[in-house]
Amino acid sequence: MRRTKIIATLGPACSNEETIYRLLTSGVDVFRLNFSHGSPDDRMRIIQIVRECATSIGRYVPIVGDIQGPKLRIGEVDGVVHLQPGQTFVISTEKMKGNAQMVSTPFEALPREVGAGQRILINDGLVELVVTMVDAKRVTTRVIHGGPISSKKGMNFPDSELTIPAITDKDREDVKFACDQKLDYIAASFIRRRAEIEGLRELLHENGGDDVNVIAKLEKPQAIDNLEDILEVSDGVMVARGDLGVELPPEAVPVIQKKILSTASRWGRFAITATQMLESMTANSRPTRAEASDVANAIFDGSDAVMLSAESASGLYPVEAVQMMARIIIGAENAREYESGAPRAPLFQKSSESDEFTDALAGAANYAADQIDAKYIVVFTQTGFAARLMSKFRPRAPIVALTPSSWVARRMNILWGVQPYVMRETGNYHEQIVDHVDEFLLQKEIVRPGDRLVILMGSPLYQRAKTNLLRVHRVRD
Ligand code: PGA
Ligand code: MN
Repeated sequence: MRRTKIIATLGPACSNEETIYRLLTSGVDVFRLNFSHGSPDDRMRIIQIVRECATSIGRYVPIVGDIQGPKLRIGEVDGVVHLQPGQTFVISTEKMKGNAQMVSTPFEALPREVGAGQRILINDGLVELVVTMVDAKRVTTRVIHGGPISSKKGMNFPDSELTIPAITDKDREDVKFACDQKLDYIAASFIRRRAEIEGLRELLHENGGDDVNVIAKLEKPQAIDNLEDILEVSDGVMVARGDLGVELPPEAVPVIQKKILSTASRWGRFAITATQMLESMTANSRPTRAEASDVANAIFDGSDAVMLSAESASGLYPVEAVQMMARIIIGAENAREYESGAPRAPLFQKSSESDEFTDALAGAANYAADQIDAKYIVVFTQTGFAARLMSKFRPRAPIVALTPSSWVARRMNILWGVQPYVMRETGNYHEQIVDHVDEFLLQKEIVRPGDRLVILMGSPLYQRAKTNLLRVHRVRD
């Protein structure tokens, strides 16, 4: 049974029912919809397909809406042009077709946002420029590293404190769409500080999206400086290695990955490792051995989920990439002695007494399940919070998370080791609840008579009590 979850990015390579179905049965647990591409109609169609396929195989599959954030781009270029080191290159806010000397950008504020000596990177960092002069409508640069550029390539500004907001007008529209479509998560790109996540939550609230959870994509140096602050207000984070490795030098990425994963664990937040994990599988049916090691090491570092981007969205082998990822994960999970770090101590930041109680009981459940060799840890949860804390202890036994809400069940499917189920009939007091658990799990053939369980619950359940009870239990004969 695989514990680490697989996220696949949707795109032209997997936009029909048959491929979505094969991706799900090959191991995809979560889909990501990238708002940088596609039209609302395309998105609506694909959301529909994902939901129908998930329902037909009886699984709870969340969809993450990934908002583009302040991703800045150059304008149109006539084909592909090559910039040479040492040459002068101009970026202008005037509309024009770009060439090897000059390109336009729709980012009107650019000349006010950069200063002489600061770097501008184009095309995922392949081309590096340094600003030499700025006037009202033009930024003049010298090329440091040459390379190809073409229409609409992204620009990164690692040295500049851009004043543009983290949530753009386009993002506002996309968030509204996500709320209307009842997506499960918003992943927010280029987050720099806590207030930006708080702003996103307000925007979700205005659109009736209080149930949509938030993932902060960490891909700016400022986000790493503000890591704990951002974690405190997010549900989960993404190690967004693509842009992170452009904003910061490549050698910084492996260390930051470990830092983010271990800090997220301490805060009880889930963490996704993303980008270029099996990159060569966009064109080949087998990954490089270095890529296989990268996926495995992301597991050893403590990822809750690993993500495919171009491999599933636009590659030639989306299904094979998912199958390969699942195999590598199982390989790593069969060698848990290589996982980094000590088992997580219950030191959840004490924001409230009930959080503290839940965390303490989750730690105790982990210990108890190990001692009695429990088949499952069963967690009752109203919001998914208790399941997330349980997951963070990385128990040996899989976690069966029971909730009355199908929305919460979907959301929980991103969590390491968690198998969500909707259970509506529970009874109110713990004796009744335990009977209902037996009945439910036996009927679903998840357990057999005599199996040992550890159960975490809040009693009395009808008062929506927070987790306050740990039960060790033997399924009735
Ligand atoms: P993206 O984010 O795929 O939306 O750019 C992930 C990353 O930058 O790694
Ligand atoms: Mn990115």
